[in-house]
Amino acid sequence: GAYLSAIEGANGALNAYVATTADKARAMAAASDERLTRGEAGALEGIPLGVKDLFATEGVHMQAASHVLDGFEPRYESTVTANLWADGAVMLGKLNMDEFAMGSSNESSHYGPTVNPWRRTGSDVALVPGGSSGGSAAAVAAHLCAGATATDTGGSIRQPAAFTGTVGIKPTYGRCSRWGIAAYASSLDQAGPIARDVRDAAILLRSMASVDAKDTTSVDREVPDYEAAVGRSVKGLRIGIPREYRVEGMPSEIEDLWTKGIAMLREAGAEIVDVSLPHTKYALPAYYIVAPAEASSNLARYDGVRYGLRVPGRDIAEMYENTRASGFGREVKRRIMIGTYVLSAGYYDAYYLKAQKVRTLIKRDFETVFHDGIDALLTPATPSAAFAIGDENLAKDPVAMYLQDVFTITVNMAGLPGIAVPAGLSAEGTPLGLQLIGRPFDEETLFAAASVIE
Ligand code: GLN
Repeated sequence: GAYLSAIEGANGALNAYVATTADKARAMAAASDERLTRGEAGALEGIPLGVKDLFATEGVHMQAASHVLDGFEPRYESTVTANLWADGAVMLGKLNMDEFAMGSSNESSHYGPTVNPWRRTGSDVALVPGGSSGGSAAAVAAHLCAGATATDTGGSIRQPAAFTGTVGIKPTYGRCSRWGIAAYASSLDQAGPIARDVRDAAILLRSMASVDAKDTTSVDREVPDYEAAVGRSVKGLRIGIPREYRVEGMPSEIEDLWTKGIAMLREAGAEIVDVSLPHTKYALPAYYIVAPAEASSNLARYDGVRYGLRVPGRDIAEMYENTRASGFGREVKRRIMIGTYVLSAGYYDAYYLKAQKVRTLIKRDFETVFHDGIDALLTPATPSAAFAIGDENLAKDPVAMYLQDVFTITVNMAGLPGIAVPAGLSAEGTPLGLQLIGRPFDEETLFAAASVIE
């Protein structure tokens, strides 16, 4: 009830929720109360959560912030949200995002941009909450939910978390089921939570993670009690500082933040080690081949026949064209065109195959440092603090926007877990985050180290 009125009060200005599910929330809360009185409380009993619009929830309108899914109501529930409800959580509504999770600012949403609840000191300029899970991050930061589901294909959990002073973790690829989440780039997509602090993120991830027969890439591996890792000593942990992440033109405040994070971990007893990940600079260009290639294939299903929008034409081919032409936004069309181009006969070897080979090299870089005894890596989460909505340089230059993910994309390419944790404020008084990258399925070390920094 309190959350629903808070949303009513604040969402007009933030545009974080695209819809609330008030009736569902009340029914779920009532059922939760009953379980509580019966003494059958689940791990998340009564906890009110927001759901990124990329997740299917049964009977609730879902659009992935795209016009092409107008009117679509899934008849099924994503495994991640089903897990959360099974533990007693309550659904408040659907959260805004970049269209089909493509973007780093939430500006590609069909619903219009989400506004970051943070402002620069002494300024009214509206800032982006990051993307693509910008609605999730903004809602958590503004206390419009206790936590939120999000997804991360190339930084979409961690960058918005960094821009809003929240905690976001992208777990190891395969930790959460992708069933019922609209696919962007299937070999990179992972679900994870955005939460107010490291402990909440740990509790939520434990509930979200599971092996699932409906997603054969989900992994059959016990889900540890992540909460137990929060606050665990980092004494003796070896934290790697990858020198290639000291990118050219990095603002000094990001550099200083990183130095501060290093000092905090060292003080807590961790050993700091300089390491090298030599193929880092190829991650971003390779990602922008692999991700659009997979997206062009995944988005072929939105043809006006099976889901949502249908714009008629003289024949079926024209109906496809009309539907897709009016259904997809600019950024999504750009990705589909890049994707079909790099997959086309004659270019496949030069682009897609090459990018896959680069991906293997990036993965090996990480394997080498972990093999050498590094337990986790510390890097900045983003190259800057939150920028203004409509920032001219970024609006005109898609590549400048793609650079937002320079520190986060390597992690998806290698399938590793990564957490963004708030670590300080920019000169303008807005949040900045650091990122910890871990070994496959070692989210626990990330929770332990992140709780030293937050
Ligand atoms: N900004 C990146 C992209 O647009 C990452 C998005 C994501 O992680 N979903 O592809």
